[in-house]
Amino acid sequence: MTTTEDTSCKLCNTPDSGFVYHYDDHMAGGYGSTRYDMRRLVWLKDAPEELDYDDGVCDLCVDRMVRDDLLEEIKNSGLSQKAFKNIFLMGARNMYAQYALERKVPQEALDLDENGVAAIERLRRSIFPDPSTHPQGALRLDENYGTSAYNTGKSHAVAAVMLGYACGESPDFSAAAAAYAENMVEHVQFIERLLGELNDAVELDKDD
Ligand SMILES: [Zn+2]
Repeated sequence: MTTTEDTSCKLCNTPDSGFVYHYDDHMAGGYGSTRYDMRRLVWLKDAPEELDYDDGVCDLCVDRMVRDDLLEEIKNSGLSQKAFKNIFLMGARNMYAQYALERKVPQEALDLDENGVAAIERLRRSIFPDPSTHPQGALRLDENYGTSAYNTGKSHAVAAVMLGYACGESPDFSAAAAAYAENMVEHVQFIERLLGELNDAVELDKDD
């Protein structure tokens, strides 16, 4: 007799354990998972070849892949530069894929020069005001960095399409994602430095 659904881990075959599911660019924890229920993780490198779309993996295998820097949890804070980049790409690619479902995508785009990059950033910022374009100017202590990276990627794709800089089946958003990630790391360091200084000032005050 076969069960209707195989819930063994696809990587280590432990029965009734494969509850974190693979979806191309990320993994999502299901209710059977102890540690990753409702959580999402972004791939930092290519997923293992054995994993097909919607395959389930156990918590221990996910733990190991997180330790090996293959996967990173999409969190409010503490994201690595690579995670910022890949979450932005998730958003940009998903948005563009949605657009392609509704409309025949253009086959030609404008050449992306410095002016184009700046125009996309201006438009993107008016759709979703992310801090990356002014890394030292936007003090946002309650920023949810995971959600913000995803929304910035989506906004970027919309802006690129509107301005005529994206075409074909899968336009390359990786340069924009890399620039975004670099600025976000600078922004996070700026905020941490600022908070550290504030904290020191408060401590000095107490000593008086
Ligand atoms: Zn496993």
